[in-house]
Amino acid sequence: ALTIGIVGLPNVGKSTLFNALTKNTVLAANYPFATIEPNVGVVELPDTRLGRLSEIFGSERILPATVSFVDIAGIVKGASEGEGLGNQFLANIREADAIAQVVRGFSDPDVVHVDGEVSPESDLETINTELILADIQTIEKALPRYEKGLKHKTVTPETHSTALEALKVLNDGQLLSASSLDLEPIRELGLLTAKPFIYVFNIDEGVLGDDAKLASLAELVAPAKAVFLDAQTESELIDLDPEEAQELLASLGQEESGLDQLARVGFDTLGLQTYLTAGPKEARAWTIKKGDKAPQAAGVIHTDFERGFIKAEIVSFEDLDAAGSMQDAKAAGKVRMEGKEYVMHDGDVVEFRFNV
Ligand code: GDP
Repeated sequence: ALTIGIVGLPNVGKSTLFNALTKNTVLAANYPFATIEPNVGVVELPDTRLGRLSEIFGSERILPATVSFVDIAGIVKGASEGEGLGNQFLANIREADAIAQVVRGFSDPDVVHVDGEVSPESDLETINTELILADIQTIEKALPRYEKGLKHKTVTPETHSTALEALKVLNDGQLLSASSLDLEPIRELGLLTAKPFIYVFNIDEGVLGDDAKLASLAELVAPAKAVFLDAQTESELIDLDPEEAQELLASLGQEESGLDQLARVGFDTLGLQTYLTAGPKEARAWTIKKGDKAPQAAGVIHTDFERGFIKAEIVSFEDLDAAGSMQDAKAAGKVRMEGKEYVMHDGDVVEFRFNV
């Protein structure tokens, strides 16, 4: 599964957030065959459509899609100098498909800030600088190998020139994700600033409703997405039953928890979408990439389904919801048979036909 790595300066609330993420883990109960590592937090993607499907089909249980977060480590200013960011850190962050950068916005004077004062702007700059420097080191280390390979024709001129162009972007102080450079030829380098970023501002409860303040923080990181939450509140919400949690959220003027928002933004940033299946046993959301075709979607359930794919019976959730039952949806002509070339839509309710 795709994962999102959590990074940030020390004392910004990464552990607090991550503990909330891991306490939220439903994996053990719902997905008994999944192996789960201690540094992985799995969060359900909130999806109200599943409740409605379970009503229509009389499903016994609901299985939402999930998003996985990996606790990577703190970065300190100057980490890329001397010893560098640390091999374990780099290995972990390279494996992540996207990065969630936690930025401190809470003001608690009892919690020391590593650089002396709470400033989201300078924290963002510190982290970005360290990640940029790490990428510069990676490319500079690879260049002699690329130059040699160029002579022996084991490396393409394109790879070499992309590396040089990327180096220029980084030396200008820019993240690679902010440039229009096609990085495919140097994908193997696992460059950190080429990954999609989410910014998680850990702010005081009282600031959650301050739209002007939130907009100014969002602007600091645009076009990347920002999520605003209070990590301490999130860790308290997790211990409440759903009704109490809803009350606490309402008292803060919030409609959904920060973790729910994080799951949603994370899912989207990873380029994922869901399709749905439902029956008497379960109503379930399955994770696919945006743009996936029907056979690939079938393959997420079982590889045999992809190999033996014949066709898919599909109705959009909205049409099924409006019709109220599969039978009525069919009668209304809303249920379609789709073949191998069909590109899946988010919220398609599907039954696959296949040979085994
Ligand atoms: P990490 O070093 O980034 O993992 O930060 P921690 O999660 O360990 O948090 C550092 C300190 O800040 C701890 O004492 C937390 O209790 C506190 N802290 C974390 N999040 C919040 C928050 O949202 N509000 C306040 N007031 N304190 C927080």
